[in-house]
Amino acid sequence: MPSIFTKIIKGEIPCHRVWEDDRHFAFLDINPWTEGHTLVVPKKEHDYIFDMPDADYAALQSAAKKVAALLKSKLGCRRVCTCVIGYEVPHAHIHLLPTNATGDIRWLGQPPATSKPDLAKLAARIQG
Ligand code: AMP
Repeated sequence: MPSIFTKIIKGEIPCHRVWEDDRHFAFLDINPWTEGHTLVVPKKEHDYIFDMPDADYAALQSAAKKVAALLKSKLGCRRVCTCVIGYEVPHAHIHLLPTNATGDIRWLGQPPATSKPDLAKLAARIQG
């Protein structure tokens, strides 16, 4: 059965896309930890990121680097932080978190944000 991210990539589930190339897809996280929280996903499904073949893993990191540069330039943040978790969605992905300070990140286990950001507006700003 295809993962939820494969369904997003195929357009079967809506998302706020910010970037893609032939092998990767990047879209805004629906439950952001910072403004512009983005997921970078390989179009080919792998469950655990560190089981990916080296070439595919390197290509994913390279795609994340491009998306991080895009986020930094469009949002004007100081640093884009990154992490890999993967317990919720078993389709490898890299979290990118635009920040201006450590305290900007609402880490896992903390209560959800009280206000819902306008993801459509944010995605349009990032796409340029
Ligand atoms: P994890 O697998 O633990 O790295 O977390 C998966 C991430 O995917 C979480 O941050 C979710 O908020 C995010 N997520 C799950 N479903 C969607 C969706 N339909 N659109 C955007 N982000 C999603």
